[in-house]
Amino acid sequence: MDTSLRHKVLLIEDEQKISDIISTYLLREGYTVLNALNGAEGLRQMSQLPDLIILDLKLPDMDGEDLCQVIRADSDIPIIMLTAKTHEDDRVRGLLMGADDYVLKPFSPKELMARVKVCLRRAGKKQRTLSFNNGELIIDRGSHEVKVHGKGVSLTPTEFKMLFVLASNPNRVLTRLQLTNVVLGYEFDGYDRTIDAHLKNIRQKLGQSDYVKTVYGVGYRFNCTPDED
Ligand code: CA
Repeated sequence: MDTSLRHKVLLIEDEQKISDIISTYLLREGYTVLNALNGAEGLRQMSQLPDLIILDLKLPDMDGEDLCQVIRADSDIPIIMLTAKTHEDDRVRGLLMGADDYVLKPFSPKELMARVKVCLRRAGKKQRTLSFNNGELIIDRGSHEVKVHGKGVSLTPTEFKMLFVLASNPNRVLTRLQLTNVVLGYEFDGYDRTIDAHLKNIRQKLGQSDYVKTVYGVGYRFNCTPDED
């Protein structure tokens, strides 16, 4: 897979030592890691559109469960909870709060890596090939193929990534700054205007502009709900 499409894991954990250990393992497994040492920073990092979140239950500024609920209100991203609590009710509660899985502290990093893999695979089944309008538009993350009405559309790697990011977040406005960070891969003071040029090309190549709407003064929104499997 193109390294720019590597899975991104957001790690929200306030204990530096634990954070360092998990990060090391994640990097070794080939993931891109986003670190947050508190809940507020974790929410801020959501703008980087991670593929999975590892969330500590006890954070200095907010409760992991509350944070989980806030994230869930807006996203169905897989969440693995790290919890030191051992009472069964708490574990069940964690899952009910919207986490996909939980790992009890102290944990084995290898086991956590296995859980990460399973959660991503489960989510990836839904996500690997995106299909819209009863198959009119197909976007395949694995092969980087895009088809409209069954006909291949040739996109540059940047255009593909931008379309994939937009289509993976349907009906949600992504700001130009977000797209600059996520698609072009760098932080910019303001946004990179080439984003608009890439989007123009994507629309032209898809042969229609309905899929991606411009939200004036803000950014873009992919305007179609994916087909059910
Ligand atoms: Ca903690």
